[in-house]
Amino acid sequence: FQTMQNDIGLIGLAVMGQNLVLNMANHGFSVAVYNRTTETMDEFVGGLKDEPVDKVWEGTADRVHGYKEIEDFVASLKRPRRVMIMVKAGGPVDAVIQQLKGLLEPGDIIIDGGNSDFVDTNRRSKELREEGFQFIGTGVSGGEEGALKGPSIMPGGHVDAWPHVKDILQSISAKVGPNDDIPCCDWVGEDGAGHYVKMVHNGIEYGDMQLICEAYFILKHTLNLSNEELYQVFKSWNQGELASYLIEITRDIFTVKDEKTGNDLVDMILDTAKQKGTGKWMSQHALDLGVPTTLITEAVYARCLSGQKDARVRASEVLTGPDVTFDGDRDQFIEDVRQALYASKLVSYAQGYVQLDAAAAEFGWKLNNGNIALLWRGGCIIRSVFLEDIKAAFDKNPQLENLLLDDFFKKAINQAQPAWRRVVATAVNMGLPVPGFSAALTYYDGYRRDRLPANLLQAQRDYFGAHTYERIDTPRGETFHTDWIRER
Ligand code: NAP
Repeated sequence: FQTMQNDIGLIGLAVMGQNLVLNMANHGFSVAVYNRTTETMDEFVGGLKDEPVDKVWEGTADRVHGYKEIEDFVASLKRPRRVMIMVKAGGPVDAVIQQLKGLLEPGDIIIDGGNSDFVDTNRRSKELREEGFQFIGTGVSGGEEGALKGPSIMPGGHVDAWPHVKDILQSISAKVGPNDDIPCCDWVGEDGAGHYVKMVHNGIEYGDMQLICEAYFILKHTLNLSNEELYQVFKSWNQGELASYLIEITRDIFTVKDEKTGNDLVDMILDTAKQKGTGKWMSQHALDLGVPTTLITEAVYARCLSGQKDARVRASEVLTGPDVTFDGDRDQFIEDVRQALYASKLVSYAQGYVQLDAAAAEFGWKLNNGNIALLWRGGCIIRSVFLEDIKAAFDKNPQLENLLLDDFFKKAINQAQPAWRRVVATAVNMGLPVPGFSAALTYYDGYRRDRLPANLLQAQRDYFGAHTYERIDTPRGETFHTDWIRER
């Protein structure tokens, strides 16, 4: 006989799971917890009384209940039962769902809050619907700290389940707005839409980070700015339209010393970037959809090239570049780089939203682009002031085809483009790699052209493969073929 009636259960007590449990219990929900390895659960629940009060609020320890057996865990839940899974993405999620299915009843709700591939979430959503269960696949962003204090939460799946989990998820999410009461958590869309939006968030995060790194590299190698000067530059940038979490942490990185050597720590770090894969997933799916998400893909490639450290060291001894020094106005150039970063970032978000629209069309999701900007406004890694302007653009026109066409952004890019071009040209002249800045500019210049050289490309395809072409003076869809050899 089970008397306990927990509001929600959470399986998977690694760092994210533990912090989400505390966040829920801090907000007054009673939480059942279970972990495959029982000692982890015992240690977590047993240690709650010793945690500091900013982490474990008054009464929280009494609201977290550990279970050694999954049957008891499930039996302790209010109905419809709500079970959140925070285990390693992939096979482990399927294994836990399989276990739960034998214990849950139709109408009970399974929430996968891990970094699952949206393809898996689409599949699980379909399977669980057919079996009568409710399923939510939600992106959770903000790392450990966000999980505890308020992450950005991007839920998708079965819309009927949303009213049953809305209260808990919105309570624990980050809040924004003048009164800090707008939750960074709202319904995203059917099936894998929540995890898709999380994937796009991570891709945009790759892009933002790459652009910041390019700005750093350019300033370092054109103007020889010291880390102290870079700190000042990023500090001032964080007070304007670039104000964001990533600019803020970049600013602070320049102040940290290495304990071992006393040097600035940033200079002691090996220049090979690691990646867990969600940026790559976004690029792979961009190719599947046939949309040009060029900046984020360049950001993924930039990490790949950075990983080839030994090869680069060997090449650096053989290959040469231009021997040019910068002789322009230093302050003007710093401002130019700021504008180039802003314009490139805008293109990155524009591309991200074009991909979201294409995915929504592919899978039949009805996404609210303005709301998605709001979900990213707080709690997550890409949080920034800038997202407010994106929300405003989509609120003004929910059908906006491309962010670059919004009046506000059109004007912003127009103002920034002379500086943006000067920065890319300077980098090219000095032999500095700027894949993000230049991919963004190339996209902009391609997108704004009514005529590209694909007429010639179509002629080539028709020449060697009889692939046919359309003409500019006949209706679309009507195709023509020329016997190019005879016509020569
Ligand atoms: P994690 O290292 O990804 O996963 C560890 C947890 O998964 C442990 O509780 C482990 O149980 C459980 N697990 C692994 N295989 C299992 C299986 N076959 N059956 C049952 N349980 C299994 O943990 P995390 O870093 O807290 O992340 C959880 C999820 O959130 C992941 O999907 C991750 O990608 C996502 N996420 C993480 C972050 C972050 O900053 N870390 C941020 C956002 C999202 P045992 O203790 O028994 O091994």
